[in-house]
Amino acid sequence: MSKTALFRVVIAGRPNVGKSALFNRFVRRRRSIVHDLPGMTRDVLEAEAKLPDGRTFLLSDTGGYDPEGREKIPASVRDRAVAAIRGADLVLLVTDASAGVLPGDRAAARAVREAGPPCAVVANKIDRREGREGEVEAWALGFPEVYGVSAEHDIGVDDLQAVIGEHMSASGRTGETEAAASAEVAADNLEKGHEIALAVVGRPNVGKSSLLNALLGEERAIVSEVAGTTRDSVDVSLVASGRRFRLVDTAGIRRRGKTEQGPEVLSVVQARKRIEECDVALLVVDASEGPTGQDATIARYVAEAGRGLILVANKWDVAGKREEGTAEDFQEALASQIPFARHAPILLTSATTGRGISRILKTAATVAENRHRRISTGELNRVLGRALRDKPPRAASGRVLKVFYVAQTGVAPPTFALVANRAETLHFSEERRIENLLREAADFSGAPIRILVRERSGRREPQPRGRSKSSRPKPRSR
Ligand code: GDP
Repeated sequence: MSKTALFRVVIAGRPNVGKSALFNRFVRRRRSIVHDLPGMTRDVLEAEAKLPDGRTFLLSDTGGYDPEGREKIPASVRDRAVAAIRGADLVLLVTDASAGVLPGDRAAARAVREAGPPCAVVANKIDRREGREGEVEAWALGFPEVYGVSAEHDIGVDDLQAVIGEHMSASGRTGETEAAASAEVAADNLEKGHEIALAVVGRPNVGKSSLLNALLGEERAIVSEVAGTTRDSVDVSLVASGRRFRLVDTAGIRRRGKTEQGPEVLSVVQARKRIEECDVALLVVDASEGPTGQDATIARYVAEAGRGLILVANKWDVAGKREEGTAEDFQEALASQIPFARHAPILLTSATTGRGISRILKTAATVAENRHRRISTGELNRVLGRALRDKPPRAASGRVLKVFYVAQTGVAPPTFALVANRAETLHFSEERRIENLLREAADFSGAPIRILVRERSGRREPQPRGRSKSSRPKPRSR
């Protein structure tokens, strides 16, 4: 595919606002091709960058361009920068939010407006003191979209990628390249048509192998054996309900004998390997026996690996007859017995009768989506801002944290950063509280959630007394 067909995103702005940091963020997220343009490193740097969904765009950084014309830059460089802006499908006009809006920003905004392409303002360095105020100020540049980010701390860059994706879709460009179809991209890509890797795990004799057979029979799917990612392993690829799934290490699941019947610990080792290779783990427990410590251990591995989790309570044909309470009571009890699976959907199945089998893949697709779910920074602060102001969270040390704002820094698993006055581990009860608020705000069922605390950079700890409001942040030496 020729380069000209790609969606062109151009990063513009006055010097020192963090254009190249942003450029590097986008480029580093995916293996990208940086075009080597000899002798031009200080004017327009170009790279093919990828969105999380695999679409490719062409990213240009007009690094050496000084919109105010203060620096002695050859006219040719300026012309190339202006040409890049004119040829852009989307301009990201970067400002330094911690410095507010300066004349150079207004000059850059004028240049972009004259050139005419759609433009979103990126208020960078919001992690710094006054960053949030600067983000608000940036609206004054008069463009319809303003996004606060910290390129340095990888905050808000996810949102920006989504913004690029939206503009790209609106422009009708597909952004597809051969590379986008590569397995590497497919592995963590969950748009329709992309593969979801599933691991069936659990203790011996809970019915993993029977479930697998029921699953492959039930779905009347297009099934094919494919080489697994680890040596000698065999996976099964199947297409069902328009989605592609890969069941990892099916041979290992079916192979009865040595490993599965050996010491229990071996099945945990095997589960661990499968978990590493999957997007979503199906943890099969024997409903007629109830969960064991080993089931809880496997659930913990799934959470630690950041994978999606579904509890499959199998042999419900036996257990359901015996259970005193309702199916809901049973599900509740099961969830409380496996703490790392509190967020996981529970399916009651019977490999023998076929009950519940048809819901497995649909649920897995939902969990895989939830694991890639993103909440915008605005929405997050609506959901959490008030709660964290009214009752500031405590760290494990007992100290109270002052949270300035919250941002989602990643997906798969969804990861959130609380930017606070100090970087300390949250008290577990606070982590639970925040996690619950996040889960109320959006459907993250089956997906683990990570919550990190980051110290706001750009200034020292506030002094207990006599804090000067007027002082500008000093960048911390690194
Ligand atoms: P694995 O070791 O986890 O792969 O378990 P298997 O699939 O080999 O099943 C172990 C035993 O449980 C076999 O005798 C199966 O027939 C039986 N089994 C599996 N699923 C069910 C189920 O849903 N209901 C009942 N009643 N038995 C089952």
